[in-house]
Formats: sequence, C-alpha cells, structure tokens
Amino acid sequence: MKAAYPFRRTCKESAALIIAREDRALSFADRVGLRLHLAMCKACPGFERQVLTMRNAMKQWRNYADSE
Ligand SMILES: [Zn+2]
Repeated sequence: MKAAYPFRRTCKESAALIIAREDRALSFADRVGLRLHLAMCKACPGFERQVLTMRNAMKQWRNYADSE
C-alpha cells in the first residue's frame, strides 16, 4: 500500500536517513519527511541524539588528531 502522505517516513527509513545525512545532503522531501517523523516519533529522536553525540565525538577526535 502506498502512503497517502508523501512525506511520511517509517522508523526504519528515518534511521537510514539520519545515518545517510552524515555522509551526504538529503533531498528536500527526505529532510522534511525526517523532520516530521522526528516530531511525532518517540524512539527516533533518541537515535538521532546518539548519532549526533557520536559525530561530535568523532569531530573532537579529529581536531585532536589534527593538532598534533
Ligand atoms: Zn521513528
């Protein structure tokens, strides 16, 4: 069945988008869909936080490695 709502994303799709966003720019539809999903989902914002925390940790590690 096709979703009636074009920007609707499942948790699985949203998780994939959160990860993909680390490597590439998302399309407008994906950005909107992800934002809407995060606004109404209880689980995915927690996953997004984990990914952001990990990314910040990686950034700090890179800065540290560069400064040597
Ligand atoms: Zn979700």
